[in-house]
Amino acid sequence: MQANKISITRNYLLYVLLAVALFFSYRTIFRYGCSNLSNTFICQLTLFFSILVYITIRPSKQFLVSYIPITLLYLLIPVWEFMCGHKIAAHEFLASFLLGSFFYFSVLYLKLILGKYIKTKVGKFFTYLCDFVYLCFFFYAFSFYLYYLANDGILQGDVILAIAQTNLAEAITYIDSTFSEGKIILLSILIIIAFTLGGVLACAFHRVHSCNNELSRHDSIIRTILGIFIVFFMIIMTQGTLVHTAKGYDCQAKKVLAFSVYMTKTYGDFVKNRTDITKSIKFSDNFFMDEDKGVYVLVIGESANRDHLSLYGYKYDTTPLLNRRIKEKEQGYRFIWFRNAYSSFTHTIQSVTNALTDHNQYNGQDLSRSVSIIDIANKAGFDTYWISNQSSDSMIVTPITSISMSAGSVKFVSESKKGGKIYDLDILDNLPAELRTDRDSFIVIHLMGSHTKYRDRYPPEFSRFSNEQNIINEYDNSIYYTDYVLDNFFRYFSQKTNLKFFGYISDHGADPTQMGNDHNTTHFVFDMVRIPFIISFSEKYAQSHQNIVETLAKRVNGYFTNDLIFDLLLSVMGLSASNYYDSSFDLSSENYSLNQENAKTLLGEKKISEDHR
Ligand SMILES: [Zn+2]
Repeated sequence: MQANKISITRNYLLYVLLAVALFFSYRTIFRYGCSNLSNTFICQLTLFFSILVYITIRPSKQFLVSYIPITLLYLLIPVWEFMCGHKIAAHEFLASFLLGSFFYFSVLYLKLILGKYIKTKVGKFFTYLCDFVYLCFFFYAFSFYLYYLANDGILQGDVILAIAQTNLAEAITYIDSTFSEGKIILLSILIIIAFTLGGVLACAFHRVHSCNNELSRHDSIIRTILGIFIVFFMIIMTQGTLVHTAKGYDCQAKKVLAFSVYMTKTYGDFVKNRTDITKSIKFSDNFFMDEDKGVYVLVIGESANRDHLSLYGYKYDTTPLLNRRIKEKEQGYRFIWFRNAYSSFTHTIQSVTNALTDHNQYNGQDLSRSVSIIDIANKAGFDTYWISNQSSDSMIVTPITSISMSAGSVKFVSESKKGGKIYDLDILDNLPAELRTDRDSFIVIHLMGSHTKYRDRYPPEFSRFSNEQNIINEYDNSIYYTDYVLDNFFRYFSQKTNLKFFGYISDHGADPTQMGNDHNTTHFVFDMVRIPFIISFSEKYAQSHQNIVETLAKRVNGYFTNDLIFDLLLSVMGLSASNYYDSSFDLSSENYSLNQENAKTLLGEKKISEDHR
């Protein structure tokens, strides 16, 4: 009786310890960019769990059936990285295996606790929930295999993010434009296998029970083997050499998860903080706005690689209208086009978010507490407009949706046009019919540009480069159409409004030869970040803002990344008195500090100077 009481108390103590350890280890695991120390911490915790399992449960057949396959799946994830040509250190296998073990034991323990102490229906429901979580961990590991077989690449955090930010229609277009029929069949078979295997393993996992019966000989042998195994790893782990000298003791499976969780949380906070942040916008005392009210237009392109614009020297005449406007020195307007513009990332959400907020690759500003150019324009009394040909719905709320919603007027062309194909020129019908002349207007236009499938982006009459059916021709046609669209927008605004500024910059570039992966970081080439950047000022504006226009005209060969559009626009729109303006990021300022050496892309991970072209 006494002994029984002690064992119950011991069990409770163990479970409390476990709960605390679980809490802290999950917090650590989901923090992006963990140091070596925290990784070591996770590994040791995993072993801690393993030992506890060893002590308190009998490693039954179900335990082995549900444990070994899932950890094997995790263990082998680095193999795919190796297949992609990455250098893999032995510790990555270890870290990956331990991550799998960590997931397994933590969810197993949770289940045992719930099953043992909550004997109600609710308790039962939670144990089923644990089975489901186990299944999720299994599918997570499996997705690395699926991704490699589908894409010849290793799954990365921004891919998960891109998937979460898409919708069903876009996902279908992506699958359709990326995979051949054979591959779709192969992937479907793999998914069926995954579900079957996952189901079998989850059933085994469901039947794992804690067991206090006396052990049979057979069981004690397995327990001893497990024990030796755990002690063996414990020794390796606590050996400082392996842990502390291994640079970035980490594995891809953890990095992807940590990144996705971190970004989703940051985006959530960004949306949540909008009202608060808007209140923090202030203007210094010398702030005054131009008497002459007019219109500022920013057109954000999609997947346009500047090397495919004839303006930038491409062999085919893809931008005849832009060329004419620029080279023939359009009356009344001054055009400036920048030769060395890059995007800050290869995906839309990150690039556009960086472009429109004070958060950039260089200033370390916390994105979740960032302010957008639309917030500031609103505060300064501009009428703000957002007109987009991209979709408004996605699985998670993105900062772009949140930024667009803060505009005074928001229009998504896909929602207003019912039936028929939608092209970028349909934006024209959605432009504001009348703009107030006693207020400034700031209009952001978001194009579909050269998004895959390219041939869906232009009407058939724009198939100019089609002597042979190939993907590059289709891409060039989409650029050719964008040229036409931009020309129409420019004409509309310059004829109908007091247009002061018109800018076009792409969200990122593309490598059309990599069908379906044309702007995927997994297959990074500089084509994915080389973008066109063209601006134009009215003669009247240029006369009254000589400093800005002349400084920009001198900088056509300067290095620029599109996350710095924010500061440039503040200056151009007369809002540099804002507390969020930083002249060192403003291309039109004498203090502008970016050059070939310090310019970066891939969210600060890659130097522009590595682009040897
Ligand atoms: Zn994009």
